[in-house]
Amino acid sequence: ETTSKFYFTTSQSAHKIYKPRKRFDHKGKFGHVLLVGGSKGMIGAIQLATRSALRSGTGKTSVIVPSCGYEILQATCPEAMCIADPSRNHIVASTLLKPYTAIGIGPGIGKHEQTKKAIRSIIEDADKPIVLDADALNLLSENKEWWDIIPENSILTPHVGEFERLADIHFINSFDRLEAASKMAQDKKVIIILKGANTAVCLPNGEIHFNSTGNPGLAKGGSGDALLGIITGLLGQKYKPFEAAILGVYIHGKAGDYASSQMSIESVTTSDVIDNIGKVFLGF
Ligand code: AMP
Ligand code: MG
Repeated sequence: ETTSKFYFTTSQSAHKIYKPRKRFDHKGKFGHVLLVGGSKGMIGAIQLATRSALRSGTGKTSVIVPSCGYEILQATCPEAMCIADPSRNHIVASTLLKPYTAIGIGPGIGKHEQTKKAIRSIIEDADKPIVLDADALNLLSENKEWWDIIPENSILTPHVGEFERLADIHFINSFDRLEAASKMAQDKKVIIILKGANTAVCLPNGEIHFNSTGNPGLAKGGSGDALLGIITGLLGQKYKPFEAAILGVYIHGKAGDYASSQMSIESVTTSDVIDNIGKVFLGF
């Protein structure tokens, strides 16, 4: 039997989590984020995540991509350091995780057998909370024993389909689904961000924080990749996992609201959303 307590993330509660910069701060104080993702035909996903992390205040940003994505990342994200995986079309290698203050895994990564081994090894080596999205979550669904190696307070960002694969249940009733997400967060001691309209951030202590920002302009390919980048970017700084999750979801939605109001819900793209992340910080 689990119980939940409900909260609503308003501009005021987001503002309370936000930590302003000080005059003499330097980049060493804002962490070094590592993003892992991409495969042939899906380099855009990891590129969107990288650009989102870069807009979210990280001190340093590194990204691992299959070597077919190396020039693309270097050319389009000059602020990020890029590590080319030895394989051309999908990620096969793990890496030394020591330098990084937060790790986000999943955008466009695919489910190749060798990629599965590499991701497992990264998760196993991680000694602090990580952020998992997309096929990293689908691999977890197919390899439930991975639950044992996921660090406590890690952040998982499933949409409904990904969550139902994690839970192995198709829910007819959306409240039942939400309850299952909260129970999973409590049982597994992770943060489950159940994405959709009014995204629910389910914490291991039973709190559920509903987001107040966002619009159907975010219901597009690439949208979740931007969210992973923002949350990993915040986690790499001084934000605690629950703060990075709640604030990241708020910022993503608010940037989406600014972008849609300029571009329309129909034509807004994830790139427009990323271009508006800065406006959200200006509002804090
Ligand atoms: P993904 O499905 O992984 O690309 O993630 C989609 C992102 O867009 C998530 O952050 C969702 O919360 C957000 N999103 C999708 N549909 C809506 C909607 N109708 N209203 C607000 N946000 C949405
Ligand atoms: Mg997604």
